[in-house]
Amino acid sequence: MNEPPIASDIHRNSATLPDPIWNAGHEAMLNMAAAHALAFRRSVDKRKQWPEKSFAEMRDVFARDLPAKGCDGAAVIDELVRLSADGLSAMTGPRFFGWVIGASHPVGVAADWLTSAWGQNTGSHTATPSAAACEEVAAGWLLDLLQLPSKCSVGFVTGATIANFTCLAAARGEVLRRTGWDVEAQGLFGAPPVDVLIGDDAHTSVFSALQFLGLGNNRVIRIATDYMGRMQVAAFKFAIAGCSGPIIAIAQAGQINTGACDPMSEIADIAHRHDAWLHIDGAFGLWARACPEVASLAAGCELADSWATDGHKWLQTPYDCGYAIVRDAEAHRRAMTITASYLPAVAEGERNPSYFVPELSRRARGFATWAMIRALGREGIAEMVGRHCRIARRMANALAAEPGIAVMNEVALNQVAVRFGADLPLERGDELTAAVIDRLQADGTCLAGGAKWKGCWIMRLSVISWPTTEADADRSVEAIIQAWRAVR
Ligand SMILES: *Cc1c(COP(=O)(O)O)cnc(C)c1O
Repeated sequence: MNEPPIASDIHRNSATLPDPIWNAGHEAMLNMAAAHALAFRRSVDKRKQWPEKSFAEMRDVFARDLPAKGCDGAAVIDELVRLSADGLSAMTGPRFFGWVIGASHPVGVAADWLTSAWGQNTGSHTATPSAAACEEVAAGWLLDLLQLPSKCSVGFVTGATIANFTCLAAARGEVLRRTGWDVEAQGLFGAPPVDVLIGDDAHTSVFSALQFLGLGNNRVIRIATDYMGRMQVAAFKFAIAGCSGPIIAIAQAGQINTGACDPMSEIADIAHRHDAWLHIDGAFGLWARACPEVASLAAGCELADSWATDGHKWLQTPYDCGYAIVRDAEAHRRAMTITASYLPAVAEGERNPSYFVPELSRRARGFATWAMIRALGREGIAEMVGRHCRIARRMANALAAEPGIAVMNEVALNQVAVRFGADLPLERGDELTAAVIDRLQADGTCLAGGAKWKGCWIMRLSVISWPTTEADADRSVEAIIQAWRAVR
């Protein structure tokens, strides 16, 4: 199976009224889709990292009027493959360091195909016992891997953004409940004001979550951070002492530019002395805890009240997959549950997947999570995380040895913040850094994005794709140095 078949190769029945319901045309179409998927994945190591065509060009490629009549499914899939080809990037490849994202591991993809084919609406555990049981077991494995209390509840959501939302909804409900206010029933109108403390270098998605929750993305107390983006304990202590109402404190495990983790033990101790709910955004950084080599970097995270993390980053599940983890399962459930007479009741001790997420109808994300953990095992996950951190240090050391290149962070986890023309005036360094990023993008050997960090433009390398090896890192460093020498 090298060249994927095209639709006209496929024997087909009528697309609208298939007879029998499941027919040879469907089988051929799914096999064709699989062949195209394999062809794409085979090509990833060789293709350019960045899409051949821009968004504007791809819009033209896809543009056509709403079709009045349907057509054969195989032809549709064929067309989709043809139209999409030039607008795909090599995110699943070994040298895509562009964002802190995973690389859709084949095992996760296979489990995800089955998830779609089985088509289980995971809104109820009685209707989809396999999905619900698999998810429950995967939830237990996650808590074990991340070394969090085994009694925590886990919601399988779309990603860390909605995991932050879900956890902060539980936080909002609980801190207000302690004052006698029922936010689930009464909303925020007339509620005692909630103080939200958050580090100055928190991820933008946490501010989105606050926005969705009526807590405001700007009505927060921002805590000063250090050069690695970590909250300063003294500033946190001072700010929380000035709060009078219910408090939610938000810390971070894994800053997107530096990989740094807030000083959790101290933050947790102070937060709890003020009866605050401590939430941690640990989209990728929480996974340090799954690797003995680097677990100490995220020490103290277990002291929080809730945690948001991703499956589609370090665990390498396909999109989309994140986890909302809450110590107080009742608070979690109160924040997310609505019941209806037509939905099956939940017996004591049973876990209904929809009780811990915002959605009712949803994808069975537990399958891909289960499959990834089953395939890699505790040791495989630890090996992968440890390898990524070692590769990040290797890249940082090699880059820093080149005149004019500076590494702006202490590389302990998987993030490297690189600055070009570091000895030059700010604006010139920004220009050169942007130019290196552009040149690298055109070259296509590897991909790294740009970001603003502490007032200056940096190139950010995120080592977090399962296939990345030392050889990939060396090849990429070489390409980056060549790009730098060319623009300097
Ligand atoms: C990626 C990331 C998020 C957002 O996660 P999504 O999965 O994109 O919703 C939040 N916080 C941090 C630190 C991240 O790295």
